Amino acid sequence: VTDAHPVRVHGGLKDQDRIFQNAYGRHDFLLKGAKARGDWHKTKEIILKGHDFIINEMKASGMRGRGGAGFPSGLKWSFMNKPGWEKDPRPRYLVINADEGEPGTCKDREIMRGDPHKLVEGCLIAGRAMNANAAYIYVRGEFYLEVEHLQAAINEAYKAGLIGKNACGSGYDFDVYVHKGAGAYICGEETALIESLEGKQGKPRLKPPFPADVGLFGCPTTVANVETVAACPTIIRRGAGWFAGLGRDKNQGTKLYAISGHVNHPCVVEEEMGIPLKDLIERHCGGVRGGWDNLLGIVPGGSSVPILPKHKCEEVLMDFDSLREAQSSLGTGAVIVMDKSTDVVKAISRFAKFYKHESCGQCTPCREGTTWLANMMERFESGRGNSREIDMIYELTKQMEGHTICALADAAAWPIQGLLRHFRPELEKRFAEYELKNGPVLVGGRHAREL
Ligand code: NAD
Ligand code: SF4
Repeated sequence: VTDAHPVRVHGGLKDQDRIFQNAYGRHDFLLKGAKARGDWHKTKEIILKGHDFIINEMKASGMRGRGGAGFPSGLKWSFMNKPGWEKDPRPRYLVINADEGEPGTCKDREIMRGDPHKLVEGCLIAGRAMNANAAYIYVRGEFYLEVEHLQAAINEAYKAGLIGKNACGSGYDFDVYVHKGAGAYICGEETALIESLEGKQGKPRLKPPFPADVGLFGCPTTVANVETVAACPTIIRRGAGWFAGLGRDKNQGTKLYAISGHVNHPCVVEEEMGIPLKDLIERHCGGVRGGWDNLLGIVPGGSSVPILPKHKCEEVLMDFDSLREAQSSLGTGAVIVMDKSTDVVKAISRFAKFYKHESCGQCTPCREGTTWLANMMERFESGRGNSREIDMIYELTKQMEGHTICALADAAAWPIQGLLRHFRPELEKRFAEYELKNGPVLVGGRHAREL
């Protein structure tokens, strides 16, 4: 909801079950307003219940990481407390991934702007669960206002004794620092983010070792997404059962969805996991521009995931399993809607250019593959290609997938696979039209006349 579009018909989720009550920042984001919304209520008691309690609650809640991968959060946090952890003299860190860079994604931004205290309190509780004494929040460099709000909330929390020495009077010491990124998409990959925090170039590391074993400055570290950590205090306060009771099996709780593109009212909205994609758009965004029949397709989870054509969008649910069955992915929950006016080849070609630009260049299949994908897609846009090249570009995406250090190469490959799966006739039509006008195009995009 924005001032221009203040009216919204709510979907299945009741207002009282919304964690992020101040999305769009219509209320006070500072401590007074945050406390009125229930933040920092009995935090000391939660801290005193200890790490096993917090981790068990997170496990029972069914929360899966909201950064895009959906790894079970309680399990991930428990890796910090492997047997013998007490004897390890290394400091331990929580790192918050606020480098929200996935095209289409703008949900963590709303939390930092409107509900920053939820994140600061979440850092303390999640940090306690991991027996860490410091959190670094790595914020996307372009998020100027978000950093201001976050820093203001952190300053207030220090002043009120909620963090710092003897946080909330619990006897536990905990510091929170904000670090600004410098505009590289790859720094959102957790190990590149760690490298960047250490002052190096943001280049992903091989995993294993996972950060819980060797992370920031070589110390046990967990990198977690803003939404996951900011939701944690409410989950603990209201109980794992409340969160687990929303959504459906293995896809529980609520989630922030960011809906953009050809809808009447683009928005970020918190809804139950598993809301039908069509309901999400009709209830919260005033529907597709020109009506549902004018829909071409939807990218349901940010630029890294395959597009779904209209018929697949009718029944699909917005959760990890339903979208996987539909051969796409929930990703970050960033829904990009394309109506029939969209040049779908051009749109996916634009994604390919993005990944070419953002590849860090360490792995050959990614460095070379993203360049080839972008170049071929650019030609395909104008119709310069032939059906053999469709098979070649598919084969190239398969050679990239799973053969690199991080998931960026997969992210470049999957949208193109989605295009070929559902819109191959559109490409073939384009090639045929070009050929009719100009004669045959040979493999490699070269026109017969050029040879
Ligand atoms: P991943 O599956 O490799 O890891 C997810 C998390 O689980 C990581 O923290 C990882 O350390 C942990 N993990 C996984 N297996 C583990 C194991 N065996 N032991 C211990 N820990 C383990 O995925 P990823 O590369 O971190 O993330 C990919 C996703 O990120 C994509 O799906 C994409 O949607 C999303 N993404 C989000 C943004 C954004 O702006 N939020 C940007 C780019 C990509
Ligand atoms: Fe860098 Fe790409 Fe390799 Fe990731 S997959 S480490 S972005 S070259």
